[in-house]
Amino acid sequence: MKTVSILGATGSVGTSTLDIVERHPDLYRVAALTAANNVNALADAAVRTRASLAVVADDTRYAELKERLAGSDCRVASGPEGLREAAAGEADWVMAAIVGCAGLEPVMAAVSAGKTVALANKEALVTAGALMTDAASRSGGIILPVDSEHNAIFQCLGTRNCETVRRLVLTASGGPFRTWSAVAMADATPKQAVAHPNWSMGAKISIDSATMMNKGLELIEAHHLFGLPSDRIDVMVHPQSVIHSMVEFIDGSILAQMGSPDMRIPIAHTLAYPARVESGAERLDLIRFGQLTFEEPDEARFPALRLAREALEAGGNAAIVLNAANEVAVAAFLAGRISFGEIAKMAEEALASRPNTSPASIEDVIAIDAVARRQAQTNLEGAAA
Ligand code: NAD
Ligand code: MG
Repeated sequence: MKTVSILGATGSVGTSTLDIVERHPDLYRVAALTAANNVNALADAAVRTRASLAVVADDTRYAELKERLAGSDCRVASGPEGLREAAAGEADWVMAAIVGCAGLEPVMAAVSAGKTVALANKEALVTAGALMTDAASRSGGIILPVDSEHNAIFQCLGTRNCETVRRLVLTASGGPFRTWSAVAMADATPKQAVAHPNWSMGAKISIDSATMMNKGLELIEAHHLFGLPSDRIDVMVHPQSVIHSMVEFIDGSILAQMGSPDMRIPIAHTLAYPARVESGAERLDLIRFGQLTFEEPDEARFPALRLAREALEAGGNAAIVLNAANEVAVAAFLAGRISFGEIAKMAEEALASRPNTSPASIEDVIAIDAVARRQAQTNLEGAAA
């Protein structure tokens, strides 16, 4: 019996994780579940799975959660302390599915406590990559990639040494605007931008997929997970999202991982690893596709890809600043405050004007993130005035 905790249990990845866990009550027991503020969904899941701890990040919702869970055996906590307890507590396996840099501290708590961490929260690795992989090697913690591309690469690599790898190929669907002109894209609405052709995901990552910042963040994520430099990680647009990524070895062999575009497949892989369990995902019918196609990404229409590569190559605080400006810009776009075209512009401006510092600790990362967010907010308000 494996004991599991889910950080961000009410989100897209969190509910997919619960779905698999609940299919196998003989294999998995739930310890902690967390949410930002959706007390109803959190309490329902806690009761259903007989979780031992439910944590709401927003302290002002504590009393409400306590009331919803009165009479159950589930303990209630809130705020950063509660999130830390959920991350570093009794579970063997922790799903990190909070969105954004907000997940960084709980992820670090889980990694430092030596947990097996199934990592969906790419922003945590993008902002604190080396610090996190160092913490894992000190504590004996294991980071298993949930992001479908990185999970695909992890599966293709198996136990092989990275010295046998010529390059990694991250596949990208191209998002909802793959065939749109730059002019049409500049004024796309949030509704158009969240309508991903193949995947159903949370709002933030859906917008990142539309700008292709998601693939940019994944490039940085791949660097930290697999230790290859930027010039050995390529991006290829593959609109069908059948091949989730590939590894090219020095002998010329290319291994690819395929499956339906359903996050339950990579989640189940990390949950059962190194075994396998039934995930509930629809089986892939290649005959139905008939053809798989591949294209070069267009960095003129999708500048976010170039910006992320520049941030990776610059090192220091660049990825933190890029991520913070992007988080602020995506929230502003979703709130109707800026146009779609302005998202990448805000990220570019932040990268160009950043002070040159390097984080030596998680506290440094959090401080750099906070300053970059404030700067991006100030720029937004300046532009609106
Ligand atoms: P989502 O918005 O659907 O869910 C986010 C979860 O985090 C929710 O449970 C929410 O309550 C919680 N949360 C949000 N802000 C928080 C805060 N400040 N403090 C504590 N908890 C907070 O997001 P998602 O689509 O499930 O994505 C989660 C992460 O997984 C992201 O980093 C995303 O990039 C990554 N990811 C998602 C998918 C996908 O298919 N959805 C695929 C690959 C990677
Ligand atoms: Mg992905």
